[in-house]
Amino acid sequence: MRPTLKSYRHVASGKVRELYEIDDATLLMVSSDRISAYDHILATPIPDKGRVLTAMSFFWFDTLGVVNHLAGGPTDERIPAELVGRAMVVQRLPMLPVECVARGYLTGSGLLDYQATGGVCGIELPDGLGEAAQLPEPIFTPAAKADLGAHDENIGFDQVVATVGESVAHAARELTLDIYRRGAELAASRGIILADTKFEFGTAADGSLVLADEVLTPDSSRYWDATAYAPGQVQPSYDKQIVRNWLTGPDSGWDRTGDGPPPALPSEVVERTRDRYIEAYQRLSGQSFADWPKGDQ
Ligand code: ATP
Ligand code: MG
Repeated sequence: MRPTLKSYRHVASGKVRELYEIDDATLLMVSSDRISAYDHILATPIPDKGRVLTAMSFFWFDTLGVVNHLAGGPTDERIPAELVGRAMVVQRLPMLPVECVARGYLTGSGLLDYQATGGVCGIELPDGLGEAAQLPEPIFTPAAKADLGAHDENIGFDQVVATVGESVAHAARELTLDIYRRGAELAASRGIILADTKFEFGTAADGSLVLADEVLTPDSSRYWDATAYAPGQVQPSYDKQIVRNWLTGPDSGWDRTGDGPPPALPSEVVERTRDRYIEAYQRLSGQSFADWPKGDQ
């Protein structure tokens, strides 16, 4: 008999995920179907998005072969029946208070930093780089975790050292760049650009780093379709572009600069976006989403 979700204490809500306590040493991380766009959580969920992202995290944990926080597989008996496929059982770890970001391309807050300072997080870059430019080599651009609702703040490597110490800071940087490179290489072989990504690390009892949180999902990463890559302009998001286009297009009636929340998505936009997430998973993993476990709903 699987436990019910009620038997676990709810410990935290993120924008799209919920965290429960299984016991002192173990957490249940549940991915919802919520989707965010333009800093809003949309009123309309994308069916199966949480399962797709969970499938992706499992795929990457498996493929990367680095020490990670998984404490069970996708059908672990501690997962409530209705959440099978969208939840991970993980070791509860003290987390580094730093978001470990790797960038291979210049966009978003990285581009803003570059335009203001000529570099990102204190790492100097060549002149003349524009939106979506590929960087000479991937860079580690850490950020301090912000409170719910606020944006994470880019910090310099010296601040990481000041926060976690020299050796942990160096280990986090090396691991972040190593995993990014391997992820980007695999994605490239499947026609997808991994522009940037964020990892979170926990600390094992012996002080070594453990890859935690979600890994290389579209919510923690920017994926672009390699065939559509055209530097000099903002690249379409592999997963969210359909939603963004609709929200900012004439049919939504939504003013992005106003105070109002975005309207509900039409079913056609939901359907096409769902297909995009599934396509991203299938392309990257080479596996069929139809084979991914699905809980009794
Ligand atoms: P956001 O929605 O902006 O990401 P958030 O980071 O608070 O907000 P989630 O990402 O949903 O929300 O929450 C996951 C939380 O769990 C994060 O605080 C993350 O650091 C933490 N976490 C991830 N893996 C582990 C782990 N193995 N042990 C303990 N905490 C973990
Ligand atoms: Mg988070």
